[in-house]
Amino acid sequence: MTSAVDVVVVGGGQAGLAAGHHLRRQGLDFVILDADAAPGGSWQHMWDSLHLFSPAEHSSLPGRLMPAQPGEAYPDAGHVVDYLADYEKRYNLSVQHGTRVDAVRRNAGQLMVEADTGTWRARAVISATGTWSRPFLPATPGREVFTGRQLHTVNYRSPADFAGQRVIVVGGGNSGAQIAADLTLDGHVNVTWVTQRPPRFLPDDIDGRALFDVATARRRALEEGRSDTGGVASLGDIVAVPPVRSARDAGLLSVRPMFTRLTADGVRWDDGSHSGADAVVWCTGFRPALAHLAPLNLRGPRGHIPTDGTRVLGEPHLHLLGYGDWTGPASATLIGVGRPAREAAHQIARQLST
Ligand code: FAD
Repeated sequence: MTSAVDVVVVGGGQAGLAAGHHLRRQGLDFVILDADAAPGGSWQHMWDSLHLFSPAEHSSLPGRLMPAQPGEAYPDAGHVVDYLADYEKRYNLSVQHGTRVDAVRRNAGQLMVEADTGTWRARAVISATGTWSRPFLPATPGREVFTGRQLHTVNYRSPADFAGQRVIVVGGGNSGAQIAADLTLDGHVNVTWVTQRPPRFLPDDIDGRALFDVATARRRALEEGRSDTGGVASLGDIVAVPPVRSARDAGLLSVRPMFTRLTADGVRWDDGSHSGADAVVWCTGFRPALAHLAPLNLRGPRGHIPTDGTRVLGEPHLHLLGYGDWTGPASATLIGVGRPAREAAHQIARQLST
């Protein structure tokens, strides 16, 4: 069965919902197709102890402030799921959960969106599928011979799953630091944290609020033709959220340079020595989940799909929202996605009215 609609939004996490909010304000007819059976996007899959790195009022989508979570300065992931579920309902955002889009194709000047539950003919598409469903694991010698458990950030839940075990956490970003802290603070896991270069902690007084201000200042500078202020990456990589700070200050977050290979029962270090390990947690990042766009043949030389803001250069009826800075500064954060979502909806409304 094929349905016709002005706009299909692929993905119903925070980016898809922000898009829906602004499409509604533009009076456009749209549907949001989301692979997850329940609201909340990737937040519903995060590990048990995860908290935001910004207070609630600095983690809001357009139109509705996130309420504070009682007793928590920085809300947990469950609170974000509740907020997104409420947002979806409050704005009546016609999200079809449990619908996975397999392909988007061109057809007679329109876009055909093929999902496992049907096909939609759309005049424009916003892709907002995030990165959570595409975990990245680096090619590392011996990964196939290691007989212990290997998991990625997306599979990590809590230290209880590793009680009494020797765990190697790989990755010098926020996920690596937070999972290493979570495991060490538990006190029942023998943790080795491994990073490719020495971890760079942001100053303790910098949280998501300050990061957003820095990203905004950078965008303004670039828009006004001033020199690049360097953005967030120039300050450091790791937000010193309370558990990371506690573990670091207690001396529990010692770090080793990356091992050279995995062996059947552990890892081999640069100096030839060996450590046994029961599990390796790869906190090594994500890639944008864009397989459904493959039929459009849009990838540029760096693997990214080239865009002007959110609009795809090779397909003007397609917008990308929320994947990373290349689709708008801070667009992969709760507070940052509102602006590019508004711009995408405005552009689509203008395009469809001509
Ligand atoms: P997602 O939340 O991943 O939503 C994408 C949706 O698309 C999902 O519901 C999925 O089911 C659906 N989907 C995927 N593929 C398809 C398909 N083919 N067809 C249909 N549906 C599909 N940001 C902050 O603002 N504050 C923080 O403190 C913060 N902490 C973070 C901590 C961690 C560990 C991580 C990983 C990220 C954090 N972020 C934080 C960043 C950011 O807010 C999240 O990455 C956010 O979830 C991105 O939202 P999204 O809507 O783009 O993608």
